[in-house]
Amino acid sequence: MNGNLNQDTICALSTANGIGALGIIRLSGEKAIEIAQKCFKGNNLENVDSHTVHYGFIKDKEEAIDEVMVSVFKSPKTFTAEDSVEISFHGSPHISKKILEVLVKNGARLAKAGEFTMRAFLNGRIDLSQAESIADLIASENEASRKVALNQLKGGITKEISLLRGELLNFVSFVELELDFAEEDVEFADRTALSNLLNKIENKLTSLIESFKYGNAVKNGVEVAIIGKPNAGKSTLLNALLKEERAIVSSIAGTTRDTIEEVLHIKGNAFRFIDTAGLRETTDEIEKIGVQKAKEKIASAKILLYLYDEFDSSPQEVIDFIKEFERQDLKIILLHNKIDLNGGYFENEFDTKIKEELFPDVTNTILGISAKDTESVEVIKTELANYIDDLKDTESNVIITNQRHYEALKNSLIAIDNVKEAIKSKISTELLAYELRNALENLGEISGEFTNDEVLGNIFSKFCIGK
Ligand code: GDP
Repeated sequence: MNGNLNQDTICALSTANGIGALGIIRLSGEKAIEIAQKCFKGNNLENVDSHTVHYGFIKDKEEAIDEVMVSVFKSPKTFTAEDSVEISFHGSPHISKKILEVLVKNGARLAKAGEFTMRAFLNGRIDLSQAESIADLIASENEASRKVALNQLKGGITKEISLLRGELLNFVSFVELELDFAEEDVEFADRTALSNLLNKIENKLTSLIESFKYGNAVKNGVEVAIIGKPNAGKSTLLNALLKEERAIVSSIAGTTRDTIEEVLHIKGNAFRFIDTAGLRETTDEIEKIGVQKAKEKIASAKILLYLYDEFDSSPQEVIDFIKEFERQDLKIILLHNKIDLNGGYFENEFDTKIKEELFPDVTNTILGISAKDTESVEVIKTELANYIDDLKDTESNVIITNQRHYEALKNSLIAIDNVKEAIKSKISTELLAYELRNALENLGEISGEFTNDEVLGNIFSKFCIGK
């Protein structure tokens, strides 16, 4: 992030590495056009208009490397706001390597991960949350995550926050002015108006923070745990749920723990079934692996599918288990399985007792199912989809999907609370000014107005090279 590094002209392959019909190499920096020209046989790129495309050859001295199309973009209307060139070549990894070599030989440097986007940010083309949404957009795997990332790329969250931040900044100036007149005991900043603004900001922050539940579900999927005694039908149900997906979705290794997840997509949202490998190896979860294992699974889950049938469970056992694991942000769906054996679902004493004991909480549901039956599978899928629809019902127009934004919003909320507390307890203007500055900084962290190099480095290093 030091000044000199940012003046280098950088280059990288911007398309995926591998064989393709075409590949694109991007150059950005003061000397982008000059360097491209040195390696190009065709029009003189230094004399062409911005945003034009030129046919020719990339050459190493006099030896042609590939027949290419070169696009020239002149500062400032470019992605990085710097002079940029895109070389579109025949997509072979070997040609890509040769072209990058010749560009480096002529004065460019290989770009680091996310360096193009970082330049766009440092040059004021986009703010930090927009830069992050570009990474999210590239990583989006489904419709819902693509939509929220695109919304954020349009600057949604920053717009909302910076308006309020601007209003707060006015107050800060007045409070700081009071410090200059400390002896005269004057109040330039109307405390009631300030409190009203703080309440407004607090409401906004709270609804943004709240939207993270949905945003996170969209971005990372919803973790679902299937729990039940041996032979309750867990594997049968999982197989039935995943039946249509098997062809397109393979098991993927979990990122946080050494687990295997199966992913099911419903209405464009991902549901991750946790640790299903274990589930298949030993169906004897609750007894053999023990409650500890079940506990771990449930701890990270947002939805618990608990299967039972009347053969192997006593109502009390189900009740005790659920009572132990109930928590506010866990949706529990009780599945009374194997109803086909009774010719359909009838609420029996067993269910009634469970319902009575576990109170008819709106978030908890008992469904009579037959894991082998496609109709039941559809009912469960609808129930899972409802979970997302309920979360979607958020007050906020902007959906938070990024963990860093979420943390920054929570810190901002604390800072705003501290200011409110400071006003209430009538502390000194000096301390009030301090708390206000702190709140401003926290709010500014989302858009990148207040960030340090370490945070920036960390954010951009997660990008791919060439972006
Ligand atoms: P798990 O130990 O919980 O994974 O249970 P399994 O999925 O292996 O099922 C145990 C047994 O119950 C198997 O023989 C299944 O075929 C059977 N089973 C599962 N679901 C149903 C169902 O809905 N109806 C009937 N009749 N049998 C089922």
